[in-house]
Amino acid sequence: MRLKIAIQKSGRLSEASLKLLEKCGLKFARSKDKLFWFGRDLPVDLLLVRDEDIPRLLLEGVCQLGIVGENVAEEKVIEALKGKPAHRLGPRLESLQHLGFGQCKLMLAAPQDGPVATVADLEGRRIATSYPGLTRRYLEKNGIEAEVVLLNGSVEIAPGLGTADAIVDLVSTGTTLRANHLVALETVMDSQAALYRTPSRLSAEQDALLDKLIQRIEGVQQAMETKYVMLHAPRERVQAIAAILPGAEVPTVLSLDGQPDRVAVHAVCREAVFWEHLEELKSAGASAVLVLPVEKMLA
Ligand code: ATP
Repeated sequence: MRLKIAIQKSGRLSEASLKLLEKCGLKFARSKDKLFWFGRDLPVDLLLVRDEDIPRLLLEGVCQLGIVGENVAEEKVIEALKGKPAHRLGPRLESLQHLGFGQCKLMLAAPQDGPVATVADLEGRRIATSYPGLTRRYLEKNGIEAEVVLLNGSVEIAPGLGTADAIVDLVSTGTTLRANHLVALETVMDSQAALYRTPSRLSAEQDALLDKLIQRIEGVQQAMETKYVMLHAPRERVQAIAAILPGAEVPTVLSLDGQPDRVAVHAVCREAVFWEHLEELKSAGASAVLVLPVEKMLA
């Protein structure tokens, strides 16, 4: 039995999703315009689809794993559950891991100097969005009754056209909002790409393969955050220096030929190493500091 992973065919998440899977050692027989890429070494195939189709493919068990933005996953789950009685809500999508790319915020925004300055001002007004489910949930949570207008694109021009008083849309840098004279007011949801699994039952073989893949993805994620730091330091400063290294385990201390008072310190840092850390290390007596990427990790 093979496993199928769904990723976005072309869009903001495509490249990073594919890169992540390739870093996990997956290789595919690519076909340029086909939606299906056959897995070569492992029995894991790729399905390239529109990102908004991924939640349904997972819910229906067509694919076993999928990479999609949390915003899309949550919206589609709300849509799938709409109108169903509570006892028939059925299984949900299971988010296995945040993937650290595709970060954005679903935000409430409105025209600068207009009548909408907070969520409370939305009562009785019209809000344009491509995310009606998440928007309604947000309004309900805030006890607001308002009309939600579904727009599938160019949501940010709706207030200028007079079709809405405010919008709920994805924002990463805010440039599009500014260009349309809108200001971001409140965050409806923080989102990033995540790995989801189907709620459907898998065969024992598929389960084992899925575990292996998840472990590799975790390894790649960890390796991306992890750095290998090498430096020279006065022997008596080793403890002070180890305390500065972010997320470091016990460092390896090696003697330096002909320098009895100085040692080489090597450490794996599991948190981001910033310039500030390097400056602190230098002030603590470190020299020849090198920060190296880690290619693979297996805990
Ligand atoms: P598709 O044609 O596959 O349906 P799309 O137009 O829905 O694509 P993209 O614009 O490629 O999607 O965005 C895909 C995902 O990237 C979004 O759902 C969101 O999770 C994430 N994302 C990150 N930053 C932004 C942003 N500034 N605007 C829109 N989406 C963003």
